[in-house]
Amino acid sequence: MPRLNPEALTFGTFTSSYPPVEQVVQSAQALEAATVVAVPSPYESLSLLALEAFSVGTPVLANARSGKKQIRSRIDNIRELVSPRLIRHYDRLSKARPPALVPVEGDTCQGCFMKLPSQFVQQVRQDPEHIHTCPNCSRYIYVV
Ligand SMILES: [Zn+2]
Repeated sequence: MPRLNPEALTFGTFTSSYPPVEQVVQSAQALEAATVVAVPSPYESLSLLALEAFSVGTPVLANARSGKKQIRSRIDNIRELVSPRLIRHYDRLSKARPPALVPVEGDTCQGCFMKLPSQFVQQVRQDPEHIHTCPNCSRYIYVV
């Protein structure tokens, strides 16, 4: 995937319809290429933009007055829904070898950059509801 070097990011226009797929892909690539995503609004610290940035591992700079407690609370609530064993493994991975969740692009784990067996990647692709880990680095994986 080509790396972009954006100086500033603005996305889309106000609309009630879905954006074209190409625009969504370009937005994701730009978020991934960004060093940081700034969300200065005091009203939407946990905006869709912030969540999209989190999903590609880009840090988000948000207004400190705008719901940091809400974000922490939502994270805590979600963590309570996940098995403690899984949370412990995720936390260990996050500290030892961040990020703990990485995509598999083509057949390559984007955490350790090892090529995974095609049959294994196909199984991951066909079973998105199951939790999968990279057989090499143990990071949680998903196929894009
Ligand atoms: Zn890996």
